[in-house]
Amino acid sequence: MAELNLFEMAQHQFNMAADKLNLERGIKDRIMFPERTLIVQFPVIMDNGNIKMFTGYRVQHNNVRGPFKGGIRFSPDVDLDEVKALASWMTWKTAVVNIPFGGAKGGVMCDPGTLSKNELEKITRRYTYEIKDIIGPDFDIPAPDVNTNAQVMAWIVDTYSMINGQNSFGVVTGKPVSLGGSYGREEATGRGVMITTIQAIKEIGIENKKLTAIVQGYGNVGSNAARLLAEKGIKIIGISDISAAVYDPDGLNLNEINEFLKKNKFLQGYTGAKSISPKEKILEMDTDILVPAAVQNQITKENADRIKARVIVEGANGPTTPDADIILNNKGIFVVPDILANAGGVIVSYFEWVQNIQEEKWSYEEVISKLEEIMIPAYDDVSALAKKEKTNMRTAAYMIAISRVAEATRNRGIFP
Ligand code: NAD
Repeated sequence: MAELNLFEMAQHQFNMAADKLNLERGIKDRIMFPERTLIVQFPVIMDNGNIKMFTGYRVQHNNVRGPFKGGIRFSPDVDLDEVKALASWMTWKTAVVNIPFGGAKGGVMCDPGTLSKNELEKITRRYTYEIKDIIGPDFDIPAPDVNTNAQVMAWIVDTYSMINGQNSFGVVTGKPVSLGGSYGREEATGRGVMITTIQAIKEIGIENKKLTAIVQGYGNVGSNAARLLAEKGIKIIGISDISAAVYDPDGLNLNEINEFLKKNKFLQGYTGAKSISPKEKILEMDTDILVPAAVQNQITKENADRIKARVIVEGANGPTTPDADIILNNKGIFVVPDILANAGGVIVSYFEWVQNIQEEKWSYEEVISKLEEIMIPAYDDVSALAKKEKTNMRTAAYMIAISRVAEATRNRGIFP
């Protein structure tokens, strides 16, 4: 297959399932492409007094089943195709777990590693201003993603509320708990990865073995997934971040690593385990479970054949290319696809939004039990359809998601 950009990759995955569903052409075209794409260029006065221009995006893919929903990422590589792909994945993700949201995504091309906190705040506030007309608690609700967090969400709430002259906590999710955030939101994506991992190891009948896991990307998703998998007795033997990868077949000391990261920000320099170089090799080490939780395009036709894991649970969005998917399938590696595996975040975002609207505060225990109540049946539905249709979990997940969005589209009809 020719090199695909990220949106082409998303379209390929969509087409595989849409073809199996025999989706009619008009509906297929209606739900495949984003409804709205906004590109903004805006100035920020940097700490040195100079004006610097930034490019930001907000892509609204589909809101047939509910308000647009999807994170905002800050990264030097963000481009329109990436944001379009991520927005469409949000549509399928909210549909596969059946929560009443659509899909959107945003991004600002910038390198947070080189920015001061003051500059990050100014970029966030100005970007919020630039997209203010198309976001809102009933219409499009952003959330954290790569390099954005609860603090960034708090700045968005404040900016949006100041512009509108009233507090508007429901405009984003993933906020600090002190500002309308939900208990359990920060760890929710990692928790969903853990829940689907447990389902997957039961499904392939290895749950009673002493299992090992490697987690690529030790940010919000990866670090929480690692901690929660370890709590389930799975030995974490490898992790990586943008700077380095470390490996210990006897198990890593996650508490020590977390302490190291509090002081040093990046893994590089941690000497408590063997360092793996180049860091991408961590994907190919011996392990039962592999959780790619960093960025897209990590498992490709170049390395897929060397992957030894029995189960891959996609914490990141789009970590596996379509070429690699074929290789993994042929090798019999069981893949839990991103739109299902990392849906825990948007599910608890939905809980946060409901709590904001109803002016309620649910306990942590309530949130995590409600998360399981949604994720386990969603996993079971995908797994049952994969068996029935003799296909893999990715195509089955897309088939369920696309059917739901298509049905809602048919019910609504086409305006005017
Ligand atoms: P994050 O910024 O908190 O963490 C990203 C981590 O990946 C960092 O440790 C970073 O150093 C590392 N990393 C980046 N590039 C890497 C590379 N090439 N090799 C190894 N490590 C690398 O971001 P996050 O929120 O944890 O998101 C990670 C992935 O999960 C993204 O694909 C994101 O879209 C997806 N996701 C996030 C959420 C969420 O709730 N935050 C929800 C669903 C999906």
